[in-house]
Amino acid sequence: MIIKKGQLSALLFLLVGFLLANRVPVMTNGAMDYSQTVAIQEIDSVKYLHLRQFGEAIHAGVSYDPLLQNLTMNFMGHKIKMSAHSSFLLIDERAYNLYLPTRMEYDAMLVPLDSFLSVFHREVYDRIFFNQTLQRFEIELIFLNITGVQIQEKANGTILRIATTKTFKEDQINFWVHSAQTLYVTVAGGRLDSIYIAQSPVCGVVSDVVPIQLEHSVQIAFKLRKNIQTPELYQSTNPNEIIISLRTPITEDISKRLEHRKREWKFDCIVLDAGHGGKDPGAVGKHGLREKDVTLGVAKRLGKKIQDRLGVRVEYTRETDKFVELWRRAEIANEIGGDLFVSVHCNAAKNRKASGFETYFLRSGKSQDAIEVAQRENAVIQMEANEGHYERMDEEMRILSSMLQSGYMKESEELANLFQVELNKRLNTENRGVKQAGFYVLVGASMPNVLVEIGFISNRKEEKKMKTEAYLNDVAESLYQGVRQFIASYSVR
Ligand SMILES: [Zn+2]
Repeated sequence: MIIKKGQLSALLFLLVGFLLANRVPVMTNGAMDYSQTVAIQEIDSVKYLHLRQFGEAIHAGVSYDPLLQNLTMNFMGHKIKMSAHSSFLLIDERAYNLYLPTRMEYDAMLVPLDSFLSVFHREVYDRIFFNQTLQRFEIELIFLNITGVQIQEKANGTILRIATTKTFKEDQINFWVHSAQTLYVTVAGGRLDSIYIAQSPVCGVVSDVVPIQLEHSVQIAFKLRKNIQTPELYQSTNPNEIIISLRTPITEDISKRLEHRKREWKFDCIVLDAGHGGKDPGAVGKHGLREKDVTLGVAKRLGKKIQDRLGVRVEYTRETDKFVELWRRAEIANEIGGDLFVSVHCNAAKNRKASGFETYFLRSGKSQDAIEVAQRENAVIQMEANEGHYERMDEEMRILSSMLQSGYMKESEELANLFQVELNKRLNTENRGVKQAGFYVLVGASMPNVLVEIGFISNRKEEKKMKTEAYLNDVAESLYQGVRQFIASYSVR
């Protein structure tokens, strides 16, 4: 039986339902419509599949050569080819016999459904099912692990967010800028829906998105409107996201200011930030010692040493037992025009044996430890009346603020190193090293800044020591020596 064109309405149109159960929610700003219609036609009790529609439904690149009457599609790195009136299916130049030849309905190529699918399952992808009961296709798109691209424009650059269903390691992600015009991002092992990704709305410095599925990787080309500085990959706390920031060259105004600072970096004012205070005691030791008292003790001793011995002005975010919101601390530092920002804290851990000192500089959270410390130190936010200040202080803000201050990242890390070396000389406890984390208190201070955790108030031995003048003085002296060397290293230049 041959079905004429007029009988098309009699064809069975089947909805290809995609099972998205294993996928993370995709972005909502684009229309990701996976409902496709594929015609199944029954001829002499054999079901035939409309091959082009099938190829389009699974977003395989389909091309039909009307002259040679063959249809080619590319799917998951495989080249799949069928010719008119032939029973041989070619996959990567290998021939598979479908036993029944393809049928042509004008330019529509129909292939025998069962034998086609059985070869397709075996050689290409086995997550496409023809549901006999529901008479429809069910396709699991779990093979897609890159599900969307979102571009966000910010004051100082553009952020690219690539949504994924799995975590890609840093070494699987590569990117480079070609002739200042295109940013290429490759993700090894990446699988994407190129049609959908290509429709990603663009903004900021990005004028176009061109995704290409390669056999073992994905390449996404971002066409750039203007020059960007070296793109940076950010360690996202969301494992299903790859974030790359594209910083546009700093506006003249700011860059001049930075230049000025760098050329003759005068340390006119050091801002000391005693952690916690007032209604926020910080961590409390087993014997009642409060972090807020220790931090203020250290900050004051350190400030006095700097003023007396270096003659440099010192400003405090608090000099008494008063509550100061986190956001206000960096703001104070900026208003004063500080050249260095040091935030003093005490560590605490569930494990009472944990001991030692560590120094942080701002970067998006890296190690689990660093994330925990950041969470604990940030917990104070819940005590603050005006939480609105932090509404936007999510991951993105941390990225942006580190973008803003990446000019000071090297310096901050240097200072953190000096602190660790000096503390190690005087404190007879574990040197836990320099770490990176995203502390709100460090966010927004546009100057080199570090946060030092001078010891564990949760550790009985360390709590006891923190109560002594000798210990507070040793800590202050160590930090003083760190600051002194840091300033000295810039003065000789
Ligand atoms: Zn603290």
